[in-house]
Amino acid sequence: MHCPSCSHESTSVIDTRLSSDGVAIRRRRECDACSHRFSTLEEIHLLDLVVVKRDGQREAYNRDKLVRGLRKALEKRQHTDAEFRALVHSVERDIQKMGVDEVTSEQIGAIVMSHLKSFDEVAYIRFASVYRQFEDVDSFQRELNALMWSGKKPKTATKKSVKKTRSTRTTGKS
Ligand SMILES: [Zn+2]
Repeated sequence: MHCPSCSHESTSVIDTRLSSDGVAIRRRRECDACSHRFSTLEEIHLLDLVVVKRDGQREAYNRDKLVRGLRKALEKRQHTDAEFRALVHSVERDIQKMGVDEVTSEQIGAIVMSHLKSFDEVAYIRFASVYRQFEDVDSFQRELNALMWSGKKPKTATKKSVKKTRSTRTTGKS
């Protein structure tokens, strides 16, 4: 870490604290040459986390994998880069909150799903179908129903679009 004032290569950390959202570490540093003080904000990486896969294999946590999985689920769904980054952070923050060295891929999947559910329902279903590996169509349908009827009524727009699709199909056949 170079000093922003005199470019000296060596600086000392004089204070370390966790950011309020828990995803970054703020460090107060002092230059060893000119004593200039400055702060750095470092994103926490879950480098020491081990992921236990379904088959029992262990591997180091890899953010890229999470990002790839989320991108796939959110393909062609509307969201901004900022929203996407916030989603990744929320998932990692929840993993950190568990305070463990090892986490199973199922646990990560459950955390992802809990966030995707409110982020984008279509992405949630896509992700759930891969992660839970539904054993049969019935269990997938149950999950779908539970989602659609959880607390709120389906949006009117969805109903309309379904009707539209049906009438279009009928017209096409005749
Ligand atoms: Zn300096």
